[in-house]
Amino acid sequence: MTTRVRFAPSPTGYLHIGSARTALFNYLYARHIGGTFLLRIEDTDLARSTEESTQSILQGLEWLGFAPDEEIVFQSNNAGKHRAAALKLLAEGKAYRDFTPKAEPTDKSIKETIADRARRNQGVKSMRDNPFRDLSREESDAKAAAGEPFAIRLKVAETGKTSFEDGVYGLSERDYAEIEDLVLLRSDGHPLYNLAVVCDDIEMEITDIIRGQDHLTNTHKQILIYEALGKTPPRFAHLPLILAPGGKKLSKRIHGEIVSMTTYRDHGFLAAAFRNFLALLGWSPKTEQEIMTLDELVSAFTLEGIHRNNAIFNFDATSAKRWTDDKALWMNAEYVRTMPLAEILPFIKAELKSAKLWREEYEEEDKEWFEKTADLIRGRFFTLKDFSAQGRAYFSEDFDFDPAAIAKNLKKFPDLQTWLPELAERFEPMTSFTHDEIEAVVKQFTEEKGTKLGVIMNGARAALTGVAVGPSMLAVFEAIGKERSILRLKSQVAWNM
Ligand code: GLU
Repeated sequence: MTTRVRFAPSPTGYLHIGSARTALFNYLYARHIGGTFLLRIEDTDLARSTEESTQSILQGLEWLGFAPDEEIVFQSNNAGKHRAAALKLLAEGKAYRDFTPKAEPTDKSIKETIADRARRNQGVKSMRDNPFRDLSREESDAKAAAGEPFAIRLKVAETGKTSFEDGVYGLSERDYAEIEDLVLLRSDGHPLYNLAVVCDDIEMEITDIIRGQDHLTNTHKQILIYEALGKTPPRFAHLPLILAPGGKKLSKRIHGEIVSMTTYRDHGFLAAAFRNFLALLGWSPKTEQEIMTLDELVSAFTLEGIHRNNAIFNFDATSAKRWTDDKALWMNAEYVRTMPLAEILPFIKAELKSAKLWREEYEEEDKEWFEKTADLIRGRFFTLKDFSAQGRAYFSEDFDFDPAAIAKNLKKFPDLQTWLPELAERFEPMTSFTHDEIEAVVKQFTEEKGTKLGVIMNGARAALTGVAVGPSMLAVFEAIGKERSILRLKSQVAWNM
């Protein structure tokens, strides 16, 4: 039998980082084993599911590159089948009608105290004390025929336990006594979550369910449903959680955009880098290797490599980079710097386009210049955004000057205000404006002025690029080019700031 896995998000928000990792692990598992990766949108919670979330989840998955191998399944389309399954269990005596009137809506403003809760829990001696559990078939049918509303509950055995071998956590057991007779169908005919998931997984012929550890308690209930339906449960593997520093749950309310996948796309992350980062959040290959291509991840991925302890998403809410994990940023920088140039160029183009810095010449007569410049400047960049921010001076005359760079590299040496325009004049007669020639001119000039090379170079860097750091200055002169270098060395804009 071929392996079939699915990623089954509920569209009640954007694609959360934890869900994205679940999708990734399912994808890697399927690819590793030569199986099929499916996508099911669990849109049964009508009050909370939105089309907008569905779109945001699909976009997130598309960005990460996880296309399902078969058509997307929308759970809400299967409600009829879920109802039929509940009715079948009812007919077979494996479920029963519960005619308990719907509880009066409670006044939410009156909070249950801990003492109240303890009393209530003590009161529940058995999960099987529902008065309708053992109603005779005739009585139950008669009440239903008389139009009394009812929910359908699974009849969970009084004694015994469910158990399964979790692919990550090992043996997991639970006494039936701890599991309530779970509702399969609400009195309004709406199928409930656990029933829907099991029916769909059976129909989609899912062989392996890989999902968050927060579903562990559902798994025991779902196994009971599989058994009642006379089906063999699939294999299960639960994933450790991804927590915030300090061990708190990562939540949209507290951590905001940090948890959303679109944040990373919008902040200039490369999907390949983020995928790589996500893979190492709770999983590791048996080697020390950290930078891994998708193919390498696929071939190294096994459930044994998944850690049992929760992963921490390390971000510093007080730093300027508070929206991300330091390792994620480091990894993105590695990709920005080392990815084959041809692979990253389309992303740089898209970034420059969105910043209105792109020019068609970069693909025609200035193609060589563009590629060389992109390659030069990426060495110090972290995200694609840096190409349009720190990299702006290479693509536009309208760039900002960093006041600290001006103070430190220009104004501290007042002579530079006349020296830099003078240097510009030395550049004017040059017929070839490349590394060696530029170096010769600048060295000669420095000696004449009796100053240090660093003073001239750092000053020129501030004047040409507005910042204090960057690639080797000779390469910067070359990239900015003779005409623009001359103009910027002569410009007094920075001095007047
Ligand atoms: N829809 C569930 C969720 O988004 C996942 C259900 C499952 O994987 O079985 O958490």
